[in-house]
Amino acid sequence: MHHITTIANLRTTLAPHRLQGRSIGFVPTMGALHAGHMALVERSMAENDITIVSIFVNPTQFAPNEDFAAYPRQEAADFELLQNAGVDYVFTPGADEFYPEGFATTVTLTGPALGLETDFRPHFFAGVATVVSKLLNCVQPTRAYFGEKDYQQLLVIKHMVRDLNLPVVITPCPTLREIDGLAMSSRNAYLSPEMRVKAALIYKTLNDCAQNLRAGATVQDVLKAGVERLQSHGFAVDYLALRDAASLEPITNLTSPARLLVAARLGSVRLIDNIGV
Ligand code: AMP
Repeated sequence: MHHITTIANLRTTLAPHRLQGRSIGFVPTMGALHAGHMALVERSMAENDITIVSIFVNPTQFAPNEDFAAYPRQEAADFELLQNAGVDYVFTPGADEFYPEGFATTVTLTGPALGLETDFRPHFFAGVATVVSKLLNCVQPTRAYFGEKDYQQLLVIKHMVRDLNLPVVITPCPTLREIDGLAMSSRNAYLSPEMRVKAALIYKTLNDCAQNLRAGATVQDVLKAGVERLQSHGFAVDYLALRDAASLEPITNLTSPARLLVAARLGSVRLIDNIGV
């Protein structure tokens, strides 16, 4: 596995592959890799001639009060995982090169970026969309892989790629979960053992809500009961919402396909998850 740290080196390294007509699969990450990330990597390796993974904890998607400084960084362990998986290239851009002095351009979003995460992290998707468009422009992959774990992010990226005519296929990948259903996340490392046990209730609540919706209960009643259940176990619920699965528009009746999305905090740890209904 080759480690690339500069954009110039990335371009000269990938150009011959492109000239030879090799497909390039790309998995952007913030590191602290787990089996969820590795599922994206394996999918990319199965579908492409070359796979490149980026690790970049993107400062512009964190608000000043968020966990940028504390975000888990474990480059040696990440490299070992990627190397053992047979990844061809890992790209770790430097923040100074990626955001040079005077950096002044940001992607502006509406559509699926409105509401949900944006109500609680207004800065977030502009930071994500800008860094992903930069990464896509640097790597110029054939396909890029994103997890349904971050469902709103996935739709934001799909819309951006369509709207800005970026020449890449966005491939969604299903959420990988722990045995008790908790969606794998780098931030799960912040959970105390007691919180970790409680955290499984998020996925259970999503599934019970989906089952009750399918059984004909009203959306309002189901969401109210779901929020109250999480609150009664000590969660602070940012949102529990039923949305159209393609547009993320709010829906008041169960139309197919729909998506249930949740963000809830246990102490200072914020967890998100979603399922199809
Ligand atoms: P992150 O490092 O959190 O920015 O995530 C990098 C990519 O991995 C994103 O496309 C995430 O949606 C995806 N991802 C994170 N956790 C999971 C998971 N549990 N299952 C599937 N994909 C995931």
